[in-house]
Amino acid sequence: MNNFYAPPSQINNGFAELLDQEAIHASKVMRAREGDTLTIVDGVGGCYEGIIRRITKKSVQVEIKDEEHRSRSKPELVLGMGIIKKRDRLEFAVEKAIELGAAQICLFRSEHTIKENVRMDRLESLAISAMKQSLQSHLCNVEVYHSLDMMLDTVSVDNMLVAHEKVDETNGDIDYKSVRNSERTLLLVGPEGGFSETEISNLTDKGGELVSLGPNRLRAETAAIAFMSQFL
Ligand code: SAM
Repeated sequence: MNNFYAPPSQINNGFAELLDQEAIHASKVMRAREGDTLTIVDGVGGCYEGIIRRITKKSVQVEIKDEEHRSRSKPELVLGMGIIKKRDRLEFAVEKAIELGAAQICLFRSEHTIKENVRMDRLESLAISAMKQSLQSHLCNVEVYHSLDMMLDTVSVDNMLVAHEKVDETNGDIDYKSVRNSERTLLLVGPEGGFSETEISNLTDKGGELVSLGPNRLRAETAAIAFMSQFL
């Protein structure tokens, strides 16, 4: 089943309109025709079944026949990740974290970050395709912050776990109860060079709980996926 994406601004008076890549995907790639049925998600929990009524070069108009609204599952998981150098590895981690249910992904520059910028356009379209592919109806917000501190000052969470390879395994267990009882938990992973000692002490001062992801040193992208997978 292929889902298509139309933001709420494109859903009015019982009709949804697919535009740009979504319209091309429906009409050219999937060769959908007038009268065909399809499923549309709006990125804020709405899921619509409809019938194609009009196809033009730039748009596909769908008459909505049925709709369902889902709220985000709780607790919401926010992945905070240091920007890593290799773009394909970063994009892989973002895509997998979304499939694994990340409600928000906050990329940040930190003391050991090697790379400064990311291709937000690519990450935004990747977030849409990962939402559709994993049959979700909530779009994951992917954001970039100039620093770890700015990210911490901006993102609203009520619980924070920090994956740290230097924490002793025996007392690095994850406090699942703190996650289950939270509204939004931040899962933090450092860049290739990890968190600095200063960053770690700032994070613990701010209530961050240091956790181990096992005895092996994981690449940052592996750690992000392993961390998210703990809460499936
Ligand atoms: N700084 C380390 C070094 O250079 O040896 C490696 C950092 S690791 C490549 C990147 C990030 O993945 C770390 O900051 C941490 O968040 C996470 N990580 C990797 N292995 C981990 C483990 N076994 N337990 C907890 N976190 C881990």
